Amino acid sequence: MAHPPQLTPEQRSAALAQATLSRRARAEVKGGVREGSLTIAAVLERAKSEPAIAKMRVLELLESVPGVGRIRALAILERLGISVPRKIQGLGIHQKASLLQEFTTEVLGRGRLIVLSGPGGVGKSTVAQALRKSSDFWVSISATTREPRANEVNGVDYYFLSQEEFDQMIAQDEFLEWASFAGARYGTPAKAVEKALAQGRNVLLEIEIEGARQVRSHSAEAILVFLEPPSWEDLVSRLEGRGSDSPERRAHRLELAQSELAAAKEFDIIIVNDQVEKVVSALLSLARS
Ligand code: 5GP
Repeated sequence: MAHPPQLTPEQRSAALAQATLSRRARAEVKGGVREGSLTIAAVLERAKSEPAIAKMRVLELLESVPGVGRIRALAILERLGISVPRKIQGLGIHQKASLLQEFTTEVLGRGRLIVLSGPGGVGKSTVAQALRKSSDFWVSISATTREPRANEVNGVDYYFLSQEEFDQMIAQDEFLEWASFAGARYGTPAKAVEKALAQGRNVLLEIEIEGARQVRSHSAEAILVFLEPPSWEDLVSRLEGRGSDSPERRAHRLELAQSELAAAKEFDIIIVNDQVEKVVSALLSLARS
């Protein structure tokens, strides 16, 4: 066996520093693939100019794809005729092509992002509740600074946060969107949504209108659905029937609802909520179409 080269202490510490940088680059790439911000095609492209990524094992890369564990990654390698220790830089043209083909299907399999919005009190949360039971949708859990209502559970209905915790999530850019509504703040945690979409799940956000506008402004893929009450009187009676809100909050919500109703024209689809089952089935067909 050949002896390893004799290195001076300076050369050794330079080599160690280089190894740390390479490990970091690989971890960053795997993180990006895991969260859905980097595709396999993008990684193969980067490997052309970044030696640290070129030296990553294909197995490691595949294991980072959401929904692909070690067993599925090994099966894919075997099916594509790629040996287990193969590094990205050792892939042949045909192997690269078949890998890309395999994962183009994964990209096409990305779930749909459906935003359900509309005036407060129109019945969005009842629809979202019904969709939680369907395997066709993953319903996002929002963070909020408002107090929990009697039957609400932290981590199920909302993540109930302090003002400071909410500020911190904003500072760390952890929200897909957030807005103030009737004296409290509400926001959609971005990571969980991205992960579900990358895993091919349809995602439903049940949010107020300002948040829906924000999603529209930075996500071309989102489908915006506006839930409309059958009539203004119907909305008033729903809001007034809410025992959980204080009279001041109810009055404020009515005032808000008037301007919210005018936003319908900004949405892709309008559904009248005259029957919850009808709305649920319209959203299910939207996800499946
Ligand atoms: P509530 O306090 O009645 O549960 O919700 C008040 C409003 O906040 C509802 O219109 C609801 O759709 C909206 N909302 C809930 N979660 C979010 C969110 O993450 N972002 C935004 N922008 N609005 C939300």
